[in-house]
Amino acid sequence: MSGNTTFTMIKPDAFEAGFTGAILQKFIENGFKIKALKLTQLRKEDAEAFYAVHSERPFFNSLVAFMSSGPIVAAVLEKENAVDNFRKLIGSTNPADAAEGTVRKLFAASIERNAVHGSDSDENAVIESGFFFTHFDRH
Ligand code: UDP
Ligand code: MG
Repeated sequence: MSGNTTFTMIKPDAFEAGFTGAILQKFIENGFKIKALKLTQLRKEDAEAFYAVHSERPFFNSLVAFMSSGPIVAAVLEKENAVDNFRKLIGSTNPADAAEGTVRKLFAASIERNAVHGSDSDENAVIESGFFFTHFDRH
């Protein structure tokens, strides 16, 4: 069964460009409830840990430098089938391939600076939420 929460970050490119409000509005308009929200900045070692699965990829060092270069907004979002629905809303990793109306199509500049993160599985949504929030599901 698919879960009802996912984890997202508004990445440094989108935060710096002033898109935070518009992006959060997109999430809300598309039926996602904000369960936790935090403005913060990753240290280099935080970004390395968050993206450890990509540590052997050629883009890893550049990605880590980018993700720790400025503030990000981390959030836990709730909707039915959250992981899949959210990845549909944000669009393809490369904004050049992203469908019209998706967050990455609207707000991203490049495959690296692609505006937002979205979890790729229920398991990773839980791990990634725990990276930024303790007891994020308490209410
Ligand atoms: N990325 C990159 N170059 C690539 C592929 C990915 O810089 O060729 C960056 C991009 O910021 C992406 C992140 O690494 O969002 C994680 O990659 P992943 O394949 O998990 O894409 P996502 O799940 O974010 O769509
Ligand atoms: Mg991914």
